[in-house]
Amino acid sequence: MKLLEDRILKDGQVFPGNILKVDSFLNHQIDVALISEMGKEIKRIYDGCGVNKILTIEASGIGIACIVAQHFNVPVVFAKKSKSINIEGEMYTAEVESFTHKNKNQVIVSKRFLNEEDHVLIIDDFLANGCALQGLIQIVQQAGATVEGIGIAVEKGFQTGGRIIRNLGFQLESLAIVEEMNWETGEIKFRE
Ligand code: 5GP
Repeated sequence: MKLLEDRILKDGQVFPGNILKVDSFLNHQIDVALISEMGKEIKRIYDGCGVNKILTIEASGIGIACIVAQHFNVPVVFAKKSKSINIEGEMYTAEVESFTHKNKNQVIVSKRFLNEEDHVLIIDDFLANGCALQGLIQIVQQAGATVEGIGIAVEKGFQTGGRIIRNLGFQLESLAIVEEMNWETGEIKFRE
């Protein structure tokens, strides 16, 4: 999506450790007009797929997920990061290793908000190695629900997540795919 790519080129910052900072418009300060356009694009891609629920993970996916949900007119459920022990039987749980913080979190979704009748569109801000997405997919599968597709704002195509998730057979669409980035020069190249 050219609008997002142009904004990444203008305001994104490349940091050592393969981190792309987009916190001036996506995940700290949020440019709502921009994510509204992104939401529209994800709606266009998954229109007619029968999506009745959006699933994301706290915290930075929630903003985009809410905008997408508004376009589909369906609710958002976000997996919560929790250190507390699963209350017997009430939650779906998965373990997710954080790319940015390098720690492991248990993520939980209440069984009240996801069940076998749900057709889920998974949304997140970034895709790196795919741990967050794999955790969310596990949660949908525990619920017996269906993953209709996955929408990502920024995929770092040089990391493994995109390949892993597509090889599992899921439809994964990313609005911008970074093919290369260099923290010394600040250069960012997108997949054609
Ligand atoms: P994964 O689980 O795919 O390895 O990483 C995805 C998660 O890590 C996303 O939910 C996002 O919050 C965070 N993340 C991964 N790479 C980046 C990055 O380059 N920049 C930012 N801001 N977040 C990232």
